[in-house]
Amino acid sequence: MSGTLRVLALGGLGEIGKNMTVLEYDESIVVVDTGLMFPTMDMLGIDLVLPDFEYLREHADKIEAIVLTHGHEDHIGALPWVLRELGPDIRPPIYGGPLTIAMARSKIEEHHLEDVHLDDVPPGEHVEAGPFDIELVHVSHSIPDACAVAVTCELGTTIITGDYKFDQTPVDGPPTDAARLAELGRDGVLLLCGDSTNADRKGTAPSEAAVGPVLDEVFSRAEGRILITSFASNVHRLQQVIDAAEKLGRRVSVVGRSMRKNLNIARQLGHAQVPEGLTVSPKEVENFPDEKIVILTTGSQGEPLSALRRMAHGEHPQVELHAGDTVIFSATPIPGNERAVNETVDRLYQIGATVITTQDAAVHASGHGWTEELKLMLNLTEPRYVMPIHGDHKRLFLHGKLAEDVGIPPEAIFRGRNGLPLEIDENGARFGEEQESGMVFVDGVEVGDIEDVALRDRRALSADGIFIVVATVSGQDGRALAPPEVISRGVPFLGESDGVVDEIRETIELSLSRAAKDEIREISLLQEHLREDVVAFIYERLRRRPMVLPVVVEV
Ligand SMILES: [Zn+2]
Ligand SMILES: [Zn+2]
Repeated sequence: MSGTLRVLALGGLGEIGKNMTVLEYDESIVVVDTGLMFPTMDMLGIDLVLPDFEYLREHADKIEAIVLTHGHEDHIGALPWVLRELGPDIRPPIYGGPLTIAMARSKIEEHHLEDVHLDDVPPGEHVEAGPFDIELVHVSHSIPDACAVAVTCELGTTIITGDYKFDQTPVDGPPTDAARLAELGRDGVLLLCGDSTNADRKGTAPSEAAVGPVLDEVFSRAEGRILITSFASNVHRLQQVIDAAEKLGRRVSVVGRSMRKNLNIARQLGHAQVPEGLTVSPKEVENFPDEKIVILTTGSQGEPLSALRRMAHGEHPQVELHAGDTVIFSATPIPGNERAVNETVDRLYQIGATVITTQDAAVHASGHGWTEELKLMLNLTEPRYVMPIHGDHKRLFLHGKLAEDVGIPPEAIFRGRNGLPLEIDENGARFGEEQESGMVFVDGVEVGDIEDVALRDRRALSADGIFIVVATVSGQDGRALAPPEVISRGVPFLGESDGVVDEIRETIELSLSRAAKDEIREISLLQEHLREDVVAFIYERLRRRPMVLPVVVEV
């Protein structure tokens, strides 16, 4: 028993989102979660933010399994990119609960990835992965089939809690399996990596079951149309909204591709019940009297491209909000999204809508446990070492304090950061050598639909302007025949950055000669390469994302 267990977070520490933890022992790796983060308002033109998983690429042949705790985007969203980057020869089995696996499968299909082994593992069953034994433990959270993961090697058991709360009256499925957690604790837990999202909220989170009656009451007061926004994957909430609407004889229209998709998957697995004939398509909404309609949609985070935001600004093809509508925010803003949410709320007031947020009524219950629940997790599992995960630095710190409060010695509590591996062997635990970590931005037409792309382009244009780069190349060998031209319009930062246009020209020349060497001759490909290189250069150099339009002329 001379090995060293390394626990390396590639995301989720010091931030909310893109959760990803690597466990490594005896030349073998198990990855827990492959999450993404949604861009904040200042990341214009960015569709998604992924963890930098260079470390996984470098050690791809060691990966024995990928385990997904639950189906939220901040835990499974990066999966297609991870698989694509690892290449078609590296296809570790992917484990998770039934809904998690169904949601992962739908992503894999959208990305046309082949030979992917997805396997739903019932809680309590064990799977082997190299030197590791993996077991899922059921937890309650704001999505069905959520699990904590217990990963055991010779040195002991590491529990990664995923997102959890101790909801005593969940609306679907059993409560968190406290008995199994206690058993694991009694057998000895080496390390606990626990969710820190609500480490700053004192007490116990209200049960999801408490939201239903509040929705009934708020719905019954609304005279006009009701629009309610929540996370697309919060199946329990969608169900409670459907139930409340049905009681009042209102029809429900689910607006938004992701929400409709999740609801369908949940129905197929028996996690959601939608009465026959209750739903109407977004196209039909305007055919019903206002008092007969509930619209369920995304946008609770003020996302610039969300259906809610578009409806509020008259930019949605099917639904426009107007005075007399009641808009309910059945979610709280994720830290960082407050400004965007406030903007949306204010716009709704301007239109004359009635706005109800969690400050006005208890229309939301968090899926993440509060301090008393984090302490309960610590007490049940009695870990030797603790490394809080899933939270900004403040919450990681507070979670560490809670561990101290329940009697874990301060030297056994590790407040980490992304890229810093915790190394545990027979002699103890310490941080090891820093590894590459960070963010990778995704922008491109593969995410979102055409309208999203148009809107994104317009936003990029309005913020950072446009560069048109014109290159003239030889039809024979693809080499540049004249110095490239760079034309710009509405680029606000050009004055401050001397010589940047010359540097762009150099970038173009470099890009063209590289393309010529790689024998890339097709104009559209050439233009795409040029665009990518120039976009990357401008972002590197100026942290800006203007639109770049390449024009290649062949003579
Ligand atoms: Zn999460
Ligand atoms: Zn979650």
